[in-house]
Amino acid sequence: MEPIPFNKAICLEDSMKCVEDAIRDNRLSGNGRYTKLCSEWLEDRFGAKKVLMTTSCTAALEMAAMLLGIKEGDEVIMPSYTFVTTASAFARQGAKIVFVDVKPRTMNIDEKLIAEAITEKTKAIVVVHYAGIACNMDEIMEIANAHNIPVVEDAAQGVMSTYKGRYLGTIGAIGCYSFHDTKNYTMGEGGALLINDEKYIEHAEIIWEKGTDRSKFFRGEIDKYSWVDLGSSYLPSELNVAFLWPQLKCADEINDNRKATWNRYYRAFAPFVESGKVELPMVPDDCEHNAHMFWLKLKNLETRSAFLEYMRDMNRVGCVFHFVPLHSSKAGMKYGRFFGEDVYTTSESERIVRFPLFYGITDEQVNRVLTLAVEWIKENA
Ligand SMILES: *Cc1c(COP(=O)(O)O)cnc(C)c1O
Repeated sequence: MEPIPFNKAICLEDSMKCVEDAIRDNRLSGNGRYTKLCSEWLEDRFGAKKVLMTTSCTAALEMAAMLLGIKEGDEVIMPSYTFVTTASAFARQGAKIVFVDVKPRTMNIDEKLIAEAITEKTKAIVVVHYAGIACNMDEIMEIANAHNIPVVEDAAQGVMSTYKGRYLGTIGAIGCYSFHDTKNYTMGEGGALLINDEKYIEHAEIIWEKGTDRSKFFRGEIDKYSWVDLGSSYLPSELNVAFLWPQLKCADEINDNRKATWNRYYRAFAPFVESGKVELPMVPDDCEHNAHMFWLKLKNLETRSAFLEYMRDMNRVGCVFHFVPLHSSKAGMKYGRFFGEDVYTTSESERIVRFPLFYGITDEQVNRVLTLAVEWIKENA
């Protein structure tokens, strides 16, 4: 049997054509024609005030930390159940990371714990929309606004998802997207910074353009550009953005295709919920998700290990787990602390399994995954 991979990056025919086109233009550096097409599409479709394409979501998060002026002694609140760079982007500016527990049904930050975790030193709240399913943004924005603390949305996994009709990444002051190979839309390595509060736009363009006011120069607003602040090299090459562009043009089709697979998985495992053999993700009523990931939870770490061995090692089906909680990692202990009690983060993260899900996965592939998984769960879970 052919192995079934966990992920397969999208490669559209049109992406090949656009990359060739970018090469023929003989202008491969950043902030060119395709960068403009992609950022304007993202602004129009999602309703962000300004979008800057970046070399990664990590780069966008680092830009966010710089934009908010995060410095030594500040505190930043976020979940521990997330990718490394959600935290490192802020820690490298000198901030202490304050990790808050998650809610088991979504694995998103527990908004009820945020208010208590806020101190005089809190300079940002970073939320992560896990699996493209939104955090409780109304409550989070209310707490943040009451304390006048900006919210950064790590929407790396949330491109095309909505919360009460608003696109993820456009609700907090700043949003960050990923266009890494493992995400719904890809340019190899890439991302975007969404700026929803106008006061950050000018500074963001300077950070983006290596600390210069080159963006203004480009628009003809000044006659030469120079070094005005600290920035870095955050512009992706036109080659990468050209690859992404055709995917954005058929974003709905890609989204529908992923959703169909997600729904098949969900329906197949739903009968095992009542007996407690599995737990499934919960999509709150007012959220539309983008099927970034299909996950379920097994009883405990031991059951999960046995399941992964069966799927991955014995049957070559790409089921995986991820996110060792950051607060228990070497750097997490150095740069952060857990606020209150870790009720769910560690124990729940040990139960999660992710299933193969990518644009164009075939019915036959999903059938095989399901046949194997359902049989195993019936017998062993
Ligand atoms: C993938 C991911 C990132 C990092 O994205 P890159 O584009 O690879 O830098 C950050 N946060 C979360 C939650 C992610 O899933």
